[in-house]
Amino acid sequence: HFLTDSLPFGGVVSTNMKTPGEIVHSARIAFQSGRTKSLEFREKQLRNLLRMYEENEQEMLDALKKDLNKSKMEGVLTEVGYLINDLKSLISDFKEWAQPEKATRGLPNIMDEALIYKDPYGVVLVIGAWNYPIQLTLIPVSGAIAAGNAVVIKPSEISPASAEFIARTIPKYLDRECYQVMCGGVAETTELLKEKFDYIFFTGNTSVGRIIHAAANKHLTPVTLELGGKSPVYLDDTADIDVATRRILWGKCINAGQTCIAPDYVLCSKQTEAKFIDSARNVLQEWYGKDPQKSPDLCRIVSDNHFKRISKFLFNGKIVVGGTADAEERFIEPTILTDVDGTDPVMQEEIFGPILPIVNCENVDDAIKFINGREKPLAFYIFSKNKSQVDTLLENTTSGGVCVNDTLMHLTLPSLPFGGVGTSGMGAYHGKYTFDTFVHKKSTLVKTLNKFGESLQSSRYPPYTEKKLNF
Ligand code: NAD
Repeated sequence: HFLTDSLPFGGVVSTNMKTPGEIVHSARIAFQSGRTKSLEFREKQLRNLLRMYEENEQEMLDALKKDLNKSKMEGVLTEVGYLINDLKSLISDFKEWAQPEKATRGLPNIMDEALIYKDPYGVVLVIGAWNYPIQLTLIPVSGAIAAGNAVVIKPSEISPASAEFIARTIPKYLDRECYQVMCGGVAETTELLKEKFDYIFFTGNTSVGRIIHAAANKHLTPVTLELGGKSPVYLDDTADIDVATRRILWGKCINAGQTCIAPDYVLCSKQTEAKFIDSARNVLQEWYGKDPQKSPDLCRIVSDNHFKRISKFLFNGKIVVGGTADAEERFIEPTILTDVDGTDPVMQEEIFGPILPIVNCENVDDAIKFINGREKPLAFYIFSKNKSQVDTLLENTTSGGVCVNDTLMHLTLPSLPFGGVGTSGMGAYHGKYTFDTFVHKKSTLVKTLNKFGESLQSSRYPPYTEKKLNF
């Protein structure tokens, strides 16, 4: 059924008119048929998904433009190109990852086999967020497919064009029973979460993460929660300020700051602050011109509600760079705030917009105290050439990940697990970690039944004696 004139799911067209119960039931029957477990079937589905990306590149870029005014460059770099590269490596590696792994054995098991099987969980629910609406939804989906699961996909209703693309296109390329899309907002997701899933992978904010965790807990369903938080930057005067400024501002301005690991605020001394601000003025003018609102390279804030929330922060501290906003276009200029302290509203929640407050601190110890006095962040950025100070910061803070002398780039390495800690999330993915997320590691000991093997372990049987105990 294709809805054209009534759009019940928060304005998103859905091709799936089943109830949540029917969706999960049919996905479960499909999983129980065993077909998702076949490596050939998985490969075929993954290749179809790759074809979907390649054949619909322009459609994806158009959807991203509609939802967030994403430029082609950002769309390719952070969504379409990223999806294609990630899926190509998954296709080339997943069969090897799916093989049972041999585990080490001790002397008593020398005759036996110790193996770790990679069992798919069953029916997986993937709930996506709106900020990188296609990539954040479909990277976990491809991992869940590679691991042999059936998948229910719930894109974010806040990015309707991308959600509509996913809902309309996935059924054209993938098995329609094993992999189903359900669109909807809070009401529909609340209904969906009443169903029993075998794994839930959620990307979104921390308060919704708590709701997801509570719903999963009812069925003891394991979860990955990819959440957010305030990711600090520590900048000291040994850093090359021009390079540091570019890297910090790029991390803040890409997707208009709507990035889970965007640098949220800067910790530096008053002296370093002055140099940073000078440099930032030049860099922003070079990138976005005299009137940034006219730049084709700046995204817009995703919704009116988010615009209202973020633009309030412009009344915190003192605006030293930028500061304009246009509600009609949901445009917020890249802005730097000084004279901010830890109690200001802008320092109470994740900003998730192109506003960068600076909080002054005199040294590494101050910075550590400030960071450790708050929730554990998703990312921590350290800009310094002083190796021992970098080590001190690394050893005395905890965050989902760290990138020294750059922002965001740690996320691009598939060899590094990506995820949060504490309120910034639990579990991690990317590269092989994505595959591992979606398999249960089944410990298996295969023993021989011969007399020699039996004699190696016979001291465990009664009657128990001191001699046997000391054996
Ligand atoms: P969102 O509003 O799109 O919500 C995420 C998902 O949760 C959506 O699919 C939505 O339908 C669902 N949802 C919302 N409210 C719900 C409720 N009450 N009950 C059930 N489901 C509900 O996205 P968002 O949360 O605004 O996304 C931004 C947040 O996500 C930021 O905090 C950001 O840091 C975080 N994020 C984290 C990562 C990561 O990988 N760690 C990546 C991107 C975004």
